[in-house]
Amino acid sequence: MGFRMTASNNMRLMVVTAHPDDAEIFMWGSLCAWQREGATIQLLVATSGEAGARPGQANANLAQCREQEAVAASVALEIKPDFLRFPDGTLSESPGLVRALESRIKAFNPDVVVTHSPIDYHADHRALAMAVQNAASFRVPVLYADPLGGVGFEPTVYVDITPYKGAKVTAIRCHLSQDPERFVARAGLQNQWRAFQCNGGLDDWAEAFRFEPRYPFTDIRNLLPPAPKVKRL
Ligand SMILES: [Zn+2]
Repeated sequence: MGFRMTASNNMRLMVVTAHPDDAEIFMWGSLCAWQREGATIQLLVATSGEAGARPGQANANLAQCREQEAVAASVALEIKPDFLRFPDGTLSESPGLVRALESRIKAFNPDVVVTHSPIDYHADHRALAMAVQNAASFRVPVLYADPLGGVGFEPTVYVDITPYKGAKVTAIRCHLSQDPERFVARAGLQNQWRAFQCNGGLDDWAEAFRFEPRYPFTDIRNLLPPAPKVKRL
């Protein structure tokens, strides 16, 4: 295993998600772990989630409400999300989206970008994954997050989020407009299952990611938070 990053080497992590609650559901424990390791985090949210009304929910200000929910969740990490305000539900790998991402990547100069997987279940997530891949080009390596349910997703990276279970649940619960308990329950199941794949205990949680090496980024192990502890069978 390579050296661990420290606060002094000031690793920079850019997180790019499609909707205001995605970072919380898919990668929040890992963000806590990265921050604990000294990483500086920037969170970009491509849409404001205005298409995410629950059945029977009438909220003319849903975009604003969902932005506020994301801001409230992010207080715990002492970060403020940057909302790109592209249309929710019809996100596409447009030149405008790629340019917006490129300019933020140049300005923030991240060491790693984390986003959705190109095989995610949600069309907005897939479109964003492709746009991020194009914007990142050979400037920065991209790490893909486990999609909901993990269907068809083959992880290459596991992060131990057991110390951050409570922080993750609290962050998801900030998204009151989204009936968050359904995601608390499902994220918990998924993170328990991913920990089980690493022979974790029943109380352990892990988040999973996939890294696909491409020149010149072939090994990013020294930029990752701690993996689950290896236990013998
Ligand atoms: Zn989403």
